[in-house]
Parts: sequence; structure tokens; C-alpha cells
Amino acid sequence: MTRLQWGMIGGGAGSQIGPTHRISAGMDGLYQLTAGAFDIDPERGRAFAKSLDVPEDRTYGNWQEMLEGERARTDRLDLVTVATPNATHYEISKAFLEAGFHVLCEKPLTMTAGEAEEIVALSRETGKICAVNYGYSGYALVRQMRAMVANGDLGRIRLIKAEFAHGFHADAEEADNPRVRWRYDPAQAGTSAVFADAGIHAFHMACFVSGQTPSALSADFASLVEGRQLEDDAMINIRLNGGTLCRLWTSAVAVGRMHGLTLQVFGEKGGLSWQQQHPEQLYWTPVNGRTEVIERGGPGLSEEAQRASRIPVGHAEGMPVAFANIYRDLAEVLSAEREGRAPDPLALGFPAAEDGMWSMRAIEAAARSAKSGGSWVDL
Ligand code: NAD
Repeated sequence: MTRLQWGMIGGGAGSQIGPTHRISAGMDGLYQLTAGAFDIDPERGRAFAKSLDVPEDRTYGNWQEMLEGERARTDRLDLVTVATPNATHYEISKAFLEAGFHVLCEKPLTMTAGEAEEIVALSRETGKICAVNYGYSGYALVRQMRAMVANGDLGRIRLIKAEFAHGFHADAEEADNPRVRWRYDPAQAGTSAVFADAGIHAFHMACFVSGQTPSALSADFASLVEGRQLEDDAMINIRLNGGTLCRLWTSAVAVGRMHGLTLQVFGEKGGLSWQQQHPEQLYWTPVNGRTEVIERGGPGLSEEAQRASRIPVGHAEGMPVAFANIYRDLAEVLSAEREGRAPDPLALGFPAAEDGMWSMRAIEAAARSAKSGGSWVDL
């Protein structure tokens, strides 16, 4: 099979998320890293491209050069990943979609809901995919939760408890560290800090697993480290369009919580509980029944979860495999398009521009609600 041609913007040497993308895209041998503008510093980006064996004639000093160079080619890129800082996502994704490329953009898709709506419209108009990397939705047992909910195993979903709380910005002495400070500066971070950065994954997960979209929310934002202009802790109540209530807690001052992304789903017939730090087990409790541990890779999984489960039961997988499931879904859809056939329906669950748009609407609504003392805001 011919590998899909893949380009990257950002994700250069020393970046946090770039290596996970390269490991994940490489996992199934479906992509060839063919082009890139990896760094804000053109020379550093070129040197890094060389170390990755990216051909010199497809190595670029910045994304504008890459757009010009790549749009002129007949052997076009199949997918472009945008892994640059947040404020650049809209401009870069928009330009590549307009030029007819499929895009996988890091979260957040944009800085405002209006920009996200434009990207959704553009993706529909051009017929080009704009996926958003809510990578945690690629975990096998997250897909298992979604399949069990869709299958009616839990009955009507009454309540979801979603959390993403960590303690990495708890040290007041560190508040002036430039790597921390920009996140709480509205000029650079927008209307929200910890909800936009971390809590939004929990928000996406609640929507993804329940198969619902948000209707309204009420938020309480707190800046618990003195002097911060944006929130470092938030409690948000969200009403979903299928009647489910979601209670979401996100924090950056929860000392001792490492990567505290958890999801609990409570239905009429039973409850599910999953933690990102222990992603190999899902706890299922039927009403009046015993709690059962559902093992990733074990027996009785849904088709979606079996497909997303790569290595034998009892051997830890983790985040790169979750991202790899998203890359493989996209590869299936792009290959199907190329071959003029219908894609495997199991590959269609990747997070799309619409997911990015709901997130941006939620962030703006939460900031408005918090400002008005927690009033309910329609989405
Ligand atoms: P980082 O600062 O560690 O790395 C950013 C990289 O992009 C650097 O290599 C930098 O040189 C490069 N860059 C910056 N501006 C550029 C430009 N205009 N053109 C080309 N390259 C440019 O950042 P990070 O932590 O890797 O985050 C990048 C993005 O990934 C952010 O949007 C962040 O929200 C997102 N992220 C997502 C997840 C997830 O779970 N999905 C996790 C971490 C980060």
C-alpha cells in the first residue's frame, strides 16, 4: 500500500506534543512524513527536518512557504497536522483548507467560537476534513464507553461527572515564570485559562461518550493563585441536548493530581467509571449489581473498542496508541476517498471541526456565565 503523504507545522525539537504525533502517525506505517515547517525559528526547523529525513525540497522555513510550495505540487500531501501554539491554529488551518488540504489541528481549533464556525463552514464547503486532536477519544475503553451508551446498556443517561484537574500551576512562586504566566494573560490566552486548556478535554469526552451536544451551561471560575487574571479552577454545570446533566471540575491548583482526566457516566441501568491515568480498566456497575472490571484487550469488548485495542490484554498501551487510533481513522477515510470506496464506518468517530466549534462555544459561554455570577447561558 502507498503510504499517505503527511506534513507537519510546528511540533519541532523539544516541543511537548510533536513527538507523540510522530510516534502515533508512524505506528501503523500508514503515513510518510514528507513535508514540514516544524519550528518558529526557520533554521532550527530545517535542522530538525533533516534529522527526521524529510526531503530538503519539502522542508520549509515557515507555514506560508509550505503552503505555496505544497499547493503547487501534483504529488500533494494527504494530511497536514497543525501542532503550533493556540493563537495560530485558525489562520493556518483556514489557509490549508482553502488550498484543498485535509487538516488535523491541535486543540483548541481556534481562539473564538466565530472563527470555529467559519472553519466548520469551510470544511463543509471544500469537502476537506478538519479533524481536531481530542486525542483521549482514541482510547479503546473510551470507545467502549461510547459503544455501551449507544447500545442502551446504561439506559437513559442521567448524569455525567467529568474532571480534568492537575496541580502544575499551584506554586505561587512560579506564577511569574513566562511558561506559566502567558496562560493567565487574556491577551495571549483569550477568555479562559484552565477550562480552555485542560477542562475542554473532559467536556469533549462527555459529549463524545454520551453522543450529545451541549445546550446550556453555568460556570463558576476562580483565580486561586493571587494576581491571576484568568481562572485556575472552574466548576461548570452543563445541560446536554439529550437531557443529561454534566458536572465538570477542572483545576490547575489540585496539588497531587497528575493528569486527572476522569469520566463517570451514570444511567438508569448502571454506571461506568474511567480514569486516564489507569486507561486499561473500565469499571461497570449495573444497578443493584456487582462492579465488573472491563479490561482493554479482554473479552466482550464492543467492535469499536476491539478495533482500537492494539496490543495484548495486560500490557499497557497509553496515549500514543490513543492518538494513533485517530491517525488510523483518518488514514482509512483518506484512503477510501483515494480508492473511490466507502470508508469503514468504524473509522468515522474521530473528532471533527464541529467538536472544536462546540468547545469554543462552551469556553465563551463559560466565561460569560462566570462573569455574571453563574447565570445559565444558552449555547
Ligand atoms: P510547545 O511550545 O512545546 O511547541 C510548539 C512548537 O511549535 C515548537 O516547536 C515551536 O517552535 C513551533 N512553532 C511555534 N510557532 C510556529 C509557527 N508559526 N510555525 C511553525 N512552527 C511553530 O507547544 P506544545 O505544548 O507542543 O503545544 C502545541 C499545541 O498542542 C497547543 O495548541 C496545545 O494546546 C496542543 N496540545 C494538545 C495536547 C492534546 O492532548 N491534544 C497536549 C499538549 C498540547
